[in-house]
Amino acid sequence: MRASKIKIATIVGARPQFIKAAMTSLAIEKMKAALPLEEVIIHTGQHFDKNMSDIFFEELSIKKPDYNLGVGGLSASKMTGRMIEALEEPLLIEKPDLVLVFGDTNSTLAGALTASKLLIPCAHVEAGLRSFNRSMPEEINRVAVDHLAEWLFAPTEASLRQLKNEGIDDKRLFLTGDIMADALYHYEKKADEQSSVMTTLGLKKKNYILATVHRQENTDNQSILEEIMEGLASLSSEMEVIMPIHPRSLKLLTQYGLIDSLQRKIRFVNPVGYLDMLALQKNAIAIATDSGGVQKEAYLLKTPCFTLRTETEWVELIKEGFNELVPLSREAIPIAIRRGIGKERDWSKNLYGDGKAAGKIIEILSAKKS
Ligand code: UDP
Repeated sequence: MRASKIKIATIVGARPQFIKAAMTSLAIEKMKAALPLEEVIIHTGQHFDKNMSDIFFEELSIKKPDYNLGVGGLSASKMTGRMIEALEEPLLIEKPDLVLVFGDTNSTLAGALTASKLLIPCAHVEAGLRSFNRSMPEEINRVAVDHLAEWLFAPTEASLRQLKNEGIDDKRLFLTGDIMADALYHYEKKADEQSSVMTTLGLKKKNYILATVHRQENTDNQSILEEIMEGLASLSSEMEVIMPIHPRSLKLLTQYGLIDSLQRKIRFVNPVGYLDMLALQKNAIAIATDSGGVQKEAYLLKTPCFTLRTETEWVELIKEGFNELVPLSREAIPIAIRRGIGKERDWSKNLYGDGKAAGKIIEILSAKKS
């Protein structure tokens, strides 16, 4: 006898979540032949610009969200509060068997909290990551969601250990590998074949530095942001520096009156789609970033990475020498990058699993519910 249908409500809202959800949606589609699965996608609206949202649904063939709550462009607490309010209705209508959330954004927290209020079990993908910096909004979201979730999918040994140390019941913990690695393995060839970003931007392989900066603790503090940007700009006499600029960073650089002078040294471009981003990362001589996902992609694409933060939750990258934390000063940034670019690295290590995390996650959820 076939088990009753399992309805999964996938809640997304921010750029990296579209990429992660693309992989679980694909796994659901593949497993539908054998398992009675159904997926409803709810987009909170946290990211709403075309190049921060729609482009990923189109490029990664994610089905159009069943609901778009349109909650974006607000302060963190207002945004989270309104999301919780707005999520209740679709969850009451759909009555899913479980809610699936990813990572560490306000959408993740709102999804997990609303599910818990409605007594719907929640599954957290990318569980157990910790920066141990409570002034980072994402850190609070991670801790809270991990302690609300019924299923916790840890990408690495270190994240699994952390969840055990926090006293979370072993039965709720699963080591799956990293879902961003799934996405990269799945789309790398397509990016090689289809992305024309190198030609469009007139870039030569291994002849530019790719930079991304968008973390609130960097952008919301004018002097930190200025130090970072001036540090990157000072490399421009040796090599082109390309920065696909996040809307928040652009807004703040403009507000601080820094954009005009920086524009003469750093090449700002609009945020790019995932395939173009993979191509830009693969062909860069180095990457400077405060993104979580980009640190891992840099390693998977064998490009040296310099992280513009005081700590990172992707600790294995630092330990193994693929990534370096760079002090946030205009003097230290160019020194660290110049020194680190040519360092020997053993790229053969496998830190993030076999690219099958999404399949494992959906299989575990199906088994538990049927
Ligand atoms: N990314 C992208 N286009 C860009 C910048 C980033 O497709 O212009 C991708 C990147 O390759 C990675 C993800 O977005 O897969 C990382 O998202 P982000 O840096 O916004 O968030 P974080 O990982 O820091 O939470």
